[in-house]
Amino acid sequence: MAAARWRSAAVAAIAAAGPGGGGPGRALRSGSASEPVPMPLSGPVAPATAALYVHWPYCRKRCFYCSFNKYVVPAVDEAAMGACLVHEARTLLRLSQVQSVTSVFFGGGTPSLASPRTIAAVLEGVAGAVHLPAGTEITLEANPSSSDTQHLADFKAAGVNRLSIGVQSLNDAELRLLGREHTAAEARSTVEVARRLFPGRTSLDLIFGLPGQSQEAWTRGLEEALGLSDDHISLYQLTLERGTLLAAQVWGGALPTPTQDLLADMYQAARAVLVAAGFRHYEVSNFARKGALSTHNLSYWRAEQYIGVGPGAHGRFVPQGEGSCCREARVQTLEPDAWMQEVQSRGHGTRRRVVLSPLEQLEEVLVLGLRTDEGITHARWQHVSPHLSLEAVFGAPGEAKALQQQGWLVLDSNGLRCTWEGLAVLDSLLPDLLCQLQRCWAPPATPVHHTSGTVAAGP
Ligand code: SF4
Repeated sequence: MAAARWRSAAVAAIAAAGPGGGGPGRALRSGSASEPVPMPLSGPVAPATAALYVHWPYCRKRCFYCSFNKYVVPAVDEAAMGACLVHEARTLLRLSQVQSVTSVFFGGGTPSLASPRTIAAVLEGVAGAVHLPAGTEITLEANPSSSDTQHLADFKAAGVNRLSIGVQSLNDAELRLLGREHTAAEARSTVEVARRLFPGRTSLDLIFGLPGQSQEAWTRGLEEALGLSDDHISLYQLTLERGTLLAAQVWGGALPTPTQDLLADMYQAARAVLVAAGFRHYEVSNFARKGALSTHNLSYWRAEQYIGVGPGAHGRFVPQGEGSCCREARVQTLEPDAWMQEVQSRGHGTRRRVVLSPLEQLEEVLVLGLRTDEGITHARWQHVSPHLSLEAVFGAPGEAKALQQQGWLVLDSNGLRCTWEGLAVLDSLLPDLLCQLQRCWAPPATPVHHTSGTVAAGP
């Protein structure tokens, strides 16, 4: 099934960007999947909390596979960038009317190139605008090429309490193939320093599926990383992106592509190795032990509110400060200089705002929630869809029922989730599930509050 058939603009946007508890025994609403149910005319009450993502857009060098929104410039005006990040964060926090921030994530780009003073200033700006409880998870992505001991210690003093380190590989030939700036020895040393400074709160990123990489090389590298790692590991399959050097080399025939079977075997082997080492496979690409799950990323997968600050950052929140009760997908202006001018002139650099319809919100709840081992709880679904239960959509005869009978999905008193086998093939399950959801959904007779669409970017 073509992706275009089911992917709404909103779901596509969040997938490109990346990201309520329910209890057993909650009464399931009965209903027929083929019977259209009217959408609610008023949306759920927006919570008074949000996660905060802050984008540092600069890198020292372009990695050969990277299509993120990053810029390599001769000189960074760090004072101006820092001031604009604080300014925009305060504007968007005011617009959202959130009272408390549940996590902060500095991503990029390479935020470890920013000075700890700048990171501290952003955190102070946030804490001056809303409640930032003591102990809130504050993560910074760190590149081994810009993370010496003093620098990491200064980030800790600035308020950072969790590091996500872009190790990617512990093999120098693989790092050169990826165009990474650091060596395997630098990555090892950075992780060791980080673990001393941030015990239990250091995460490693690794990439698999490199051109020419064998199953044995991947498993050997993973086991080495495991010996080095703390309690959180993220695994990403290499994606070839148009416009990158690596994609040009592969598509031009200069480098081989791994087969789909090999990629699947690599993924399955990694899951087995990590689970045997005591990690919980809590999200498609993420593993944690001793409860070291990423609070920030869980906010995305649970479809909670998040505010994106900085060039190209994405957000999902209700701008209650404008009197709105509708959740919006927001994207900030990509290019740093243009973004800074907008922040300086009107307080924020929001380039695009799309009001998400209830169906689009449910699509996000489905697509993101099924990425986690906890899945989608009844309470979380009902928060967005008070009149059409999980049971009514996915419990009736149809594609979802078939997927349950085939052992890929479970729908029970906890909610809807993938089985261990289903989590590995989630992408192939989603088109059918989205089709079933769309069939169950009917537009209201008089859509007044929730019309999906792009709105003007101001104020
Ligand atoms: S350091 Fe990260 S953001 Fe920068 S070019 Fe490399 S992969 Fe991209």
